[in-house]
Amino acid sequence: MRSLAGKDSAGAIDLERQPRVRIACQVCGSGRFRLVCSAEDIAAQHKFLESFYRSPWSRQNTATATDRVHFTQDYSTEIVTCTDCGLLYRNPRPPTQAVTKAYATERYDDEYLRTELATQQRWARMKVPLLARYLAQCAKRSRPRILEVGSFVGGFLLEGQTQGWDMVGVEPGHDVAAFCRERGLPIFEGMLDEARFTPGSFDAVVVWNTFDQLPDPRPLLEQAVVLLRNGGVLVLRVPNGACFAWMLRIRSLLPRRCRRPFDVALACNNLLTFPYLYGYSAPQLEYLTESYGFRLATCVPDQVVFTPPGHLAWWALAEERTVNALFRVIAALWPDDRSRQYRSAPWLDCVFERGCTDRESEDPKLGLGVVPVYSPLVFEDTGLKYPGNRWNPNGGFP
Ligand SMILES: [Zn+2]
Repeated sequence: MRSLAGKDSAGAIDLERQPRVRIACQVCGSGRFRLVCSAEDIAAQHKFLESFYRSPWSRQNTATATDRVHFTQDYSTEIVTCTDCGLLYRNPRPPTQAVTKAYATERYDDEYLRTELATQQRWARMKVPLLARYLAQCAKRSRPRILEVGSFVGGFLLEGQTQGWDMVGVEPGHDVAAFCRERGLPIFEGMLDEARFTPGSFDAVVVWNTFDQLPDPRPLLEQAVVLLRNGGVLVLRVPNGACFAWMLRIRSLLPRRCRRPFDVALACNNLLTFPYLYGYSAPQLEYLTESYGFRLATCVPDQVVFTPPGHLAWWALAEERTVNALFRVIAALWPDDRSRQYRSAPWLDCVFERGCTDRESEDPKLGLGVVPVYSPLVFEDTGLKYPGNRWNPNGGFP
């Protein structure tokens, strides 16, 4: 196929060549799982993805085209789901160190970064109202301080600054961090625990499209609860594993010639081949964050943003718009919020409130063993509560 310029593999860690390790479920710790996609299935999906984006893409040398076909988590493996809690994940996968190093050493050309910044800023503009709504309720200062973990090219940092927010980003990737610095954006290059920010100094911590790529999400949650002030918010955007597993299941029941709409819908939402370490659902995130003193305030079903104008051939554009419109119709008719899985939503934006403690100035750490108190102003009924709000180790989520 014609190569898509942008990401440069020279000098970067190739995860395909790394050894594989079997891992347990990150949410409930169970080692039991069920196969959702074999390595052969994933290879076939990748082949479809390449042909799907090769022919209709009218401007090949673009960041968006590269992003839709080549992923860091591209290596051959299986996609499984935990039989105890339903978490979707890649298993086996390369060791944690190799995954972390792969993101830090990814190389990009300049055109890719500039195009990606324009795309990301356009997308960030749509996310501002969600965060602004919660900041209006919880932020006590006129200029809220926001920390973004995994800032990439800085589109959200830039958009946040135009809103008058005090933005700070953390990014392990050398090329993208340098790109942010060149544009005067406040970025720390490295991992969150290396940044040494002042405890309790942020009104919000946002993690767009990064949480699912962390081999172990717990260190980030430990840091977030310390860095947020009382009542601050944590925003996590994740690919919805429940949606992927549900669509694959229906697709497998259809004759091969009828599967294209499912493949197109998954491809348009960056879910085909499932290029992420984990596919969390809303109840799994709720369980995972609860022990750190967070409470789910809202869960917003979402899709991947449309391809920018002028990048797709007219018929491909029509196909993308039609499939995504169908997706929205299905989501409207069947929001699936009672099952708390939101299976009709490819992506989820989840907002969590950090619990309050009386002794914040003395000890900002709020974790296991501390009973948090929540603000009734921020919390709204998400329908995601389960009896006792506790994990049932035998039966999973009710
Ligand atoms: Zn599990």
